[in-house]
Amino acid sequence: MSKVFITRKIPEAGAKLLKEKGCEVDISAKDGVLTKEELMFALRGKKYDAVLCLLTDKIDGDVFESAGSQCKIFANFAVGFDNIDLATAKEKGILITNTPGVLTETVAEHTFALVLAIAHRIAESDRFTRNGKYVGWQPMLFLGTDVSRKTLGIVGLGRIGSRVAYHAGKGFEMKILYYDPKPNPAFEKEFGARFVDLETLLKESDFISIHVPLLPETRHLIGENQLKMMKKNAYLINTSRGPIIDEKALVQALKENWIRGAALDVYENEPALAPGLAELDNVILTSHIASATEETRAKMSELAATNIIEALEGRMPPNLVK
Ligand code: NAD
Repeated sequence: MSKVFITRKIPEAGAKLLKEKGCEVDISAKDGVLTKEELMFALRGKKYDAVLCLLTDKIDGDVFESAGSQCKIFANFAVGFDNIDLATAKEKGILITNTPGVLTETVAEHTFALVLAIAHRIAESDRFTRNGKYVGWQPMLFLGTDVSRKTLGIVGLGRIGSRVAYHAGKGFEMKILYYDPKPNPAFEKEFGARFVDLETLLKESDFISIHVPLLPETRHLIGENQLKMMKKNAYLINTSRGPIIDEKALVQALKENWIRGAALDVYENEPALAPGLAELDNVILTSHIASATEETRAKMSELAATNIIEALEGRMPPNLVK
């Protein structure tokens, strides 16, 4: 019987699938992220054949070592896999998988919720009303910005970026600019979108939405220089990974009104926020929940389990990260 370790309680669809396939499943009993030492302790000597891990687990050579040479696969419960040392996994012949696709629509919905919320000052007005400050309709109260027919710049036109473009183009008739190492002529044709370099995108967009993976070359892709290139009335949205934006520079940009606002789901040093960020009114901060719907988290759980089952039954898992 194959043995699988799940590093934290997740929706049970995945464990159910694994058990139906005859796997013995252990789930970490800790109500929180396992420290690296705790994770290594949980794996050491237990002879697990597979580990279902989360983006909050730092998976490196020490962890692979603790899991032992019988362990065939680490299946990440996320589309991003910047928490895993891929080079060492490759060296050791350990398969790494992720959960792409099943969360695309949900993350795009959350991204668009942030676009609308920051433009229409939803969170600011909610705080104001709750705090008893609303004393009646006023002609100049919380004047925001229209989204329809504005220009959206998409940095990283992959699965999620394309779906955000769909809402923007089809729903709000936005003009679309995009920047990606791979141009996509079919997309350009369908959405009347323009492929531009990052500088042009920064200078011409009213809303900029980031959808690139975290890689050495995308770390601090948006820093002081890039923020200074943006329009003074532009908004920056990030639902990808925190370190893609230099958060300290962003706080300065928001304080000194280099840009009008930002809406973030991810942070440079999660769960910590850069000093001053939470005190600003022109920013919306969600808690890395862009894929957090009941339906999507269940699908992610199932997909991570499917990757494990395929690997343990000797087939190529569908979402192998290369
Ligand atoms: P994807 O691989 O389909 O798309 C990524 C796109 O970025 C690709 O088109 C790629 O060519 C492009 N890209 C790579 N390097 C680039 C660069 N230097 N400049 C511009 N573009 C570049 O991935 P996806 O499924 O769309 O997910 C995107 C990212 O979103 C994931 O890597 C993950 O980190 C993040 N994410 C976050 C959440 C959340 O909960 N907030 C949920 C899901 C995914």
